[in-house]
Amino acid sequence: MVYWGASAHRFPFTHCKQNAQRADFAYAKKGFIDPWSAVAPGAVKGTILSLGDELYERALGAYLGFAVGDALGATVEFMTPSEIQNTYGMHRDIIGGGWLKLKPGQITDDTQMSLALGQSIIDSGGWQATAAADAFVTWLRSKPVDVGNTCRRGIQRYITDGTLAGPMNEGDAGNGACMRNLPLALATLNDDEAFAHATLEQGHLTHHHPLSDAATLALGRMTRTLIRGGGIKECRTEANRLIGEFPLFRFEPYPKRASGYVVNSAQTVLYYFFRTDSFESCVTEVVNCGEDADTNGALAGMLAGAAYGVSGIPGYWLKKLDKKIKFRIEEQTKALLTLAQNVKAKRGS
Ligand SMILES: [Mg+2]
Repeated sequence: MVYWGASAHRFPFTHCKQNAQRADFAYAKKGFIDPWSAVAPGAVKGTILSLGDELYERALGAYLGFAVGDALGATVEFMTPSEIQNTYGMHRDIIGGGWLKLKPGQITDDTQMSLALGQSIIDSGGWQATAAADAFVTWLRSKPVDVGNTCRRGIQRYITDGTLAGPMNEGDAGNGACMRNLPLALATLNDDEAFAHATLEQGHLTHHHPLSDAATLALGRMTRTLIRGGGIKECRTEANRLIGEFPLFRFEPYPKRASGYVVNSAQTVLYYFFRTDSFESCVTEVVNCGEDADTNGALAGMLAGAAYGVSGIPGYWLKKLDKKIKFRIEEQTKALLTLAQNVKAKRGS
């Protein structure tokens, strides 16, 4: 559905789309969309997707879209919508800054934790809770630019007693588990049961709460549906299922809260995802809600990237993204999809 809301006059969608198409052509021309230019760890010969595969395009769109949303949103994290409006008008440029004083294109803990998880899956040849926990420890010790309180507490617990989950905790309903689950969604793309099982284990490393579980599963399933070509309508069915199970997640009318509480986060992302018709409009609307703008931007970028593909991400945003991060995301996407293919190949043999 096209969103021509109150902000439409400030946001020329058509112009942006044309720019995006031009830039994307340049992006493809440079040869970035080459899924098999490197050997992925754990790859098995003969189980690869074809060059220019649409599924790969959407998977890469989800992962790069996630990082773009993180980098864009970080500038306005913890601001209110009116503070953003007064400072930037509509915030729509990747310029860094914010309370973390980032460089333009720098990403935060959301993308860093996703990359740590993704690398642990690739290095282990599949999901291993201990490997993921170890990767989070290494990440925490690298003095990251930002760490969520619940994430820190969970990783500290693992360091202290080696447990892979704490008891259910009322304070664990933040969006920290949800924000980093994309690599698992990719690595298990052909196995829904494996996805559900591993997602709960992944989430419980730091967040043990039914609302965190529900949102992490639902957003992951939506992303998988989109990557597999199910389309936005099918994705909406998944959102309705989440609301059926937990009416608290109802997002229409929009409750106008975009905090790190996983319910607010999911509401913001879903409300704008279903009301916009492009990557740029979706992510821009979400980050301009402020509050947990980097995580919400990342999750919106994940869904919108999966829906519209990497070619739907404006080239001027992709260009701004930290080049090393962009390269790692491209490499991980190939490797994680190869793992997903291998699961299918094993089942078929
Ligand atoms: Mg962050």
